[in-house]
Amino acid sequence: MVSAVFLSVIGVVAYAESQVASIFAGSAPDLIDSGWADCDTPITWSMDASRITAADARTARAQLTKDLSKWAEVSGLDFQFVGEVPVIYNDTTYVVTSEVHPSPRHIYIAFLRDQDSSLLDQRTVGFASPTRVWKDSKQIVEGSMVLGIEYVKRASAQQRSAVYLHELGHVLGLGHGTEPENVMYYLVDGNNTLSPGDVEGIRNLIKACKEQG
Ligand SMILES: [Zn+2]
Repeated sequence: MVSAVFLSVIGVVAYAESQVASIFAGSAPDLIDSGWADCDTPITWSMDASRITAADARTARAQLTKDLSKWAEVSGLDFQFVGEVPVIYNDTTYVVTSEVHPSPRHIYIAFLRDQDSSLLDQRTVGFASPTRVWKDSKQIVEGSMVLGIEYVKRASAQQRSAVYLHELGHVLGLGHGTEPENVMYYLVDGNNTLSPGDVEGIRNLIKACKEQG
């Protein structure tokens, strides 16, 4: 992975019930034209659930699995849960990383308290982005997703699903959609049904699988 670019400027934020614009656009030039590849081996994912209860972690894992399968169904990508992996959160880059690399293509998901991140508050309830992309093939190989515990606790199951789907869309490389029917619309409320625009968006991003040195 030595020639993978580490994207140091990340800022993809889901705003619940606010009019604040996304800071995704233009924040990471290396992401332009990048996407995950449709390979035979699945993209693995893990959770850091150390700040939530075991029961909440089970609920979250089940919901995230469902929401990932929605993206899988329309994109051809495959995802595999590999367990709980502790992560380190950097409040300057806003990404979670780990010394544990379960596979060459991995998504780290963490639940943080509002006090753990300067981005999280009443309105900003999650943020996510690709974090590693190959320079030559533009294949994304790592992603980071943070979810605010306070929101997850007060939201309905459908609202949680909407935020998970939205943030997963960012991890998969999508920016914001322009239509309220888009799961990727910058305001996230309870929409957990992928719209034609979301589907077209993700399909446009998928790369052919290439071996990387
Ligand atoms: Zn967003």
